Amino acid sequence: MRIEREVPLAGSFDFVVCGGGPSGIAAAVSASRLGLCTALIEKNHFFGGMGAGGYVVPLSGFFHQGVRVAGGIGWELVQRMVQDSAAQVELPKGHVSFHPEYLKLHSERLLREAGVTLFSGAVLSGCCCENGGITHVLFAQEDGEKAVGGMMFADATGSAVLCRLANAEMLPASEKYQPMTLCFLLEGADATTQLLSGCIHHDGKTGRSVNAELHDWLAEQPDAPQFGGPWFNALIRGNLLAVNMTRAAGDASDPKVYAATYAELRENAYQLVELLRKGFPEFRNAQIAAIAPDLGIRETRRMRGRYVLTGKELLDGVQFDDTIAFCAHPIDIHQADGNGQRLAELPAPGPIPLRCLQSVNIGNLLATGRAISCDGEAFASLRVMATAFALGEAAGVSAWANGDARNTRVQLQKQGAIV
Ligand SMILES: Cc1cc2nc3c(=O)[nH]c(=O)nc-3n(C[C@H](O)[C@H](O)[C@H](O)COP(=O)(O)OP(=O)(O)OC[C@H]3O[C@@H](n4cnc5c(N)ncnc54)[C@H](O)[C@@H]3O)c2cc1C
Repeated sequence: MRIEREVPLAGSFDFVVCGGGPSGIAAAVSASRLGLCTALIEKNHFFGGMGAGGYVVPLSGFFHQGVRVAGGIGWELVQRMVQDSAAQVELPKGHVSFHPEYLKLHSERLLREAGVTLFSGAVLSGCCCENGGITHVLFAQEDGEKAVGGMMFADATGSAVLCRLANAEMLPASEKYQPMTLCFLLEGADATTQLLSGCIHHDGKTGRSVNAELHDWLAEQPDAPQFGGPWFNALIRGNLLAVNMTRAAGDASDPKVYAATYAELRENAYQLVELLRKGFPEFRNAQIAAIAPDLGIRETRRMRGRYVLTGKELLDGVQFDDTIAFCAHPIDIHQADGNGQRLAELPAPGPIPLRCLQSVNIGNLLATGRAISCDGEAFASLRVMATAFALGEAAGVSAWANGDARNTRVQLQKQGAIV
């Protein structure tokens, strides 16, 4: 069926960023600070992506073996939250625990201060292309569908929504995407006991971040739904713990899969908490305070870029002339259909070339964050939030530098994004 309709134009911009998670925030702020007239389109009424709407804590990937490798806008946001007593950098690993509400607060302040035009509650719904480039994107808000025009576009939706709408070439779909997790906030758990205090943060000082005793006990329960971890993170302010333990396999970019998984994992979250309450005294008074409004999506489809980075290249320390960011997190693969996890440390910070952000067939499209061009192993390292901020910042600077890798790199160094 073909439906023709007129859609009002909500503005014309130099740079249009779709998706307001870590990569989208950094893309929009960096471009706007450099003078590009920039718009950001986000489906939620807040910004911060998985960290804000998915209750994914902590922010990982700023440090490699105790040395910081990512700076710039992501690090600026961390500093703002630290000053507000809403985040804590946990050395030597350098994970940053934070409160999701403060990530929303400071992300929006940063975007507004940079002068980005914000369209929130705006679901990306289509795009127009001409001569191998995007001319407009369409989005739906409460009062109807609108269009914005642009010179350059960045897909920071995580699930490559804009790439797919624009018919950008994609990497093949996989049967083995990392699983989805619906995170939740727990109140009333006694985090001072030996069982829990040793695994609350990811600082490496107090042993493993996963609590093996809880993991092994849960694995023996015949009525336990599929789970991972469990991982518990204090939110720094208040007494809530962010809990990462539900999991389900599937491709979250399929709306039916998303809806069914959200419902299933919410049931599983209550079941798992009930088991913990029965099994361990420290959870006797624990209850779910909130369930994340967004399903935690680890992996979906990615764009095919001018270069496809591999995990082997990260492990072998391959260097590139057009490096625009470094990943520091281990190759971290959560098993889709079980409760296992495979980790491989990077021997050195892994360079990421600008070409991974550039579409092979759409001239003015950059993919950033989770949608960038890489294999599943490389993705398992660079998917974390510090790297997503760094990739977003690079996308914004590259839009300003008309895709010139050298100028992009020099500017990123100047603004402290590459440390
Ligand atoms: C369970 C789980 C645990 C994780 N653990 C960690 C961890 O410990 N440390 C760490 O650093 N990282 C962790 N990650 C990874 C990390 O959260 C993500 O990979 C990261 O947030 C990716 O950033 P992004 O900007 O690419 O995408 P996202 O954070 O997913 O942001 C995408 C944004 O686009 C918006 N959007 C999507 N579709 C549309 C649309 N159609 N229209 C408009 N807007 C749209 C979304 O609302 C969202 O705001 C974890 C992820 C999961 C799921």
